[in-house]
Amino acid sequence: MSCTTVDVKAYFLGELPASERSSLEGHVHGCQSCREELERLNLMQTALLSLEDQDVPQRIAFVSDKVFEPRWWQTMWRSGPAMGFASALMLAAAILVHTYARPVAQPATISTVDTAQIDERIQREVGARVDAAVAKAVSQTEARQTEQIARVLDAAEKRIESQRRSDMAVVQQAARLYEQQTARLMVAVNNDQRAGQ
Ligand SMILES: [Zn+2]
Repeated sequence: MSCTTVDVKAYFLGELPASERSSLEGHVHGCQSCREELERLNLMQTALLSLEDQDVPQRIAFVSDKVFEPRWWQTMWRSGPAMGFASALMLAAAILVHTYARPVAQPATISTVDTAQIDERIQREVGARVDAAVAKAVSQTEARQTEQIARVLDAAEKRIESQRRSDMAVVQQAARLYEQQTARLMVAVNNDQRAGQ
């Protein structure tokens, strides 16, 4: 039995079948590196059990163990209970990468902020100018409308006045006509009376 075929961790976690346990114990007894590995696992378990959080996944030892191996993430991927820790680790790595990547990205961020501020300033300026133009147009329109209304009112007044005058003329004419007709009638009546006598 060589070190490569021995699963000290499985033994430590009690995952080895009884048939394999005795042969492993025999190997560990004669192999210093496997004995040290087992001692290390025992130490780690003691440390983990001393933590307040008793829900720490048992296989967290594997995760911390394999981190510096080239394919450590594959081990974590296969290890279900460690996935929570793996996700946390990946998140931590992402945050770390982000933190280191940030100073490089900062000039772009600043220019973006500046652009946004300039954009906002332009928007505000344009808004103010549009408002002023609209206000001016409205006041001009109002002035024009007032002027127009005044003109229309004036014209209407004049029209009414001239209408009144022409109406008066018609009335006066009618009155004169009536007077003339009455006078003619009176003459006729007088003539008839005189003829009848
Ligand atoms: Zn060994």
